[in-house]
Amino acid sequence: METECYYCRGIVLANEADDILLDDHADHSVYMHKQCGKSHDVIKERTGSTAAVEIICPECGAVETRQ
Ligand SMILES: [Zn+2]
Ligand SMILES: [Zn+2]
Repeated sequence: METECYYCRGIVLANEADDILLDDHADHSVYMHKQCGKSHDVIKERTGSTAAVEIICPECGAVETRQ
């Protein structure tokens, strides 16, 4: 299956720590590079005791949290 970045259409790799895959999510899958999501302000990194990343789905606006 092709996994294209939602923003730049580059290939997103599932085994890359910096790539974001929203594949178990609603009825659509969204992939993006972390840097692309950040530049479009849909990725928020939370710092503190539990470092997590919040991703806002550009398709439907749902917020996903990743460790
Ligand atoms: Zn990209
Ligand atoms: Zn969505």
